[in-house]
Amino acid sequence: MSFRQFVVIGLGRFGSSVAKTLYSLGNEVLVIDKDEEKVQEMADFATHAVQADATDEAALRSLGIRNFDVAVIAIGDDVQSSIMVTLLAKEYGIKYVIAKAQNELHAKVLYKIGADRVVFPEREMGVRVGHNLCSSNILEY
Ligand code: ATP
Repeated sequence: MSFRQFVVIGLGRFGSSVAKTLYSLGNEVLVIDKDEEKVQEMADFATHAVQADATDEAALRSLGIRNFDVAVIAIGDDVQSSIMVTLLAKEYGIKYVIAKAQNELHAKVLYKIGADRVVFPEREMGVRVGHNLCSSNILEY
C-alpha cells in the first residue's frame, strides 16, 4: 500500500473518524476546521491540525493545499461552504476529492463542480448494517 498526503476539512463525526483512520494507517494527514475546539481535539490524531475557514482562499494557499493527493470535504450542514471548498480543492489541482453530501441535489452540484466521489455516510452505513444483519448468523443461536 502506498502512503499519501490527505487533507480532511470539517471535523464532525465523519471527518474526524476518516482522519483518525488515515493517520492510524501511517499516512500524512492535515486536518482543518474553523472551530478551534474541534482542532484541539484532533491534535494527537493528525500530522497537522489547523484552525482555518476553508472557504478562505488565502488560508488554503498558505497551507499548501495543492500538494495534497486527496481531499476529504466533510462539511455537511453548511452546503454553501461544502460547495465552495470542493470547488477550491479541484481548482488547486487535488487529484481525488471526496465530499460528503446532505441530499441528492447537494450531491449533484458537488459532481458538477468536479468532486470525484460523493458520499452519504449515514445512508451508506445503514445499507451496510442492513446487509450485515441479513448475512450474519446473529439469530441462529
Ligand atoms: P457529522 O454528521 O459528521 O458530525 P455534520 O455534517 O453534522 O457532521 P457539520 O456541522 O456540517 O457536520 O460540520 C462538520 C464540521 O465542519 C464542523 O466541525 C464545522 O465547524 C466544520 N466547518 C463547517 N464549515 C467550515 C469551513 N468553512 N471551514 C472549516 N470548517 C468548517
